[in-house]
Amino acid sequence: MAPCYLCPRRCGVDRESAVGFCGEGREMKIAKVMLHHFEEPCISGGEDGAGSGAVFFGGCSMKCVFCQNRDISRGGAGKTATPEELAKIMLDLKEQGAYNVNLVTPTHFADRITEALDIVKGKLNIPVVWNTSGYELPERIRALDGLVDIFLTDFKYSSPSLSAKYSAAPDYAKFAAPALAEMVKITGRPEYKGGMMTRGTIVRHLVLPGAYRDSIAVLETVADTVGAENVVLSLMAQYTPEFADEGFPELRRRITTFEYKKALARAEELGFDGYSQSVASASSRYTPDFER
Ligand code: SF4
Repeated sequence: MAPCYLCPRRCGVDRESAVGFCGEGREMKIAKVMLHHFEEPCISGGEDGAGSGAVFFGGCSMKCVFCQNRDISRGGAGKTATPEELAKIMLDLKEQGAYNVNLVTPTHFADRITEALDIVKGKLNIPVVWNTSGYELPERIRALDGLVDIFLTDFKYSSPSLSAKYSAAPDYAKFAAPALAEMVKITGRPEYKGGMMTRGTIVRHLVLPGAYRDSIAVLETVADTVGAENVVLSLMAQYTPEFADEGFPELRRRITTFEYKKALARAEELGFDGYSQSVASASSRYTPDFER
C-alpha cells in the first residue's frame, strides 16, 4: 500500500499519507456487519436461513454510475478497524450462526484482510467468501489461495467503451477474465453441503438497460475463459434506475423482459447452471428473488 498497487488502477500512491482512486487510505474501514439473507440462496440460505456473515468495506476501486451502495463505496461511511478487530468480527459472525464470512468489496484492503484471515486460520471453520467487483489483479487473486473458499465475483462488462463510460475502467474485461481464471483454479468446481456452497466460484452479471448484447458477450467470455460447467451463474435482473447518476438518460429505466430473456437464452445455450431472477425483482431493490 506504500506505494499501492493492490488493484488494476495501480495508482502508486502512498496510502500512509494519501488516498487513491478507491478513496481509502491506510486504515481498513468497515461500513456494515450483518447477517445477510438476500445473497444467492447457496450463500445466504434463503430468507429463512441463518444468513451470510457479511462485512461491507468502505470505498471501492470501481466508480459505477449506477452504484446502489454509494454511501459505502463513495460516501466515506464506516469505522476503521485493525486486522485483529476484523478477525474478532469474523469469529463473532460464526458464533451468530453465519453460514460463511462474506467479505464485500474487499479488493482495496486485500493486504489487511489477508492479515485477519491468517489470524482466524484453523479457528473459523466456515467458508470465506471474496465478494468482488471482478476488477482484480490475477496475481492478487493467486495470493488468496488457501485463505478464500468461495469467490462471488461480478463480471460486469465485455465492452471497453461500456466499462469506461459506466465504471471509469476501460480495461475492466482485460483484468476480469484472467482474474476469474485464477479464482476457478483456486476453488475448482462448485461443491455443496446441505445445499450450501462450501467451495466454488459464482459469477454475477447484472443486465443493464440497452446493453443485453454486452451481457451476451460477457457470458461468452466467461464460458470461453473457465467453462460454463465450472462456475455458478447468477444472472441478475434487479437493475434499478433510481441510483443512476445524472447524465446517463439511457440508464433511467428498468431493463425489459425482452432484454433479460435474450441474455438468459444465451446463458442456457452455453450450458450455465445457476440463478435467474424475475424482471419484477427490480422493484424490490434489496430483496431479489432468485430461481435456481
Ligand atoms: S487499491 Fe486504491 S489506491 Fe490501491 S491501486 Fe487500487 S484504487 Fe489505487
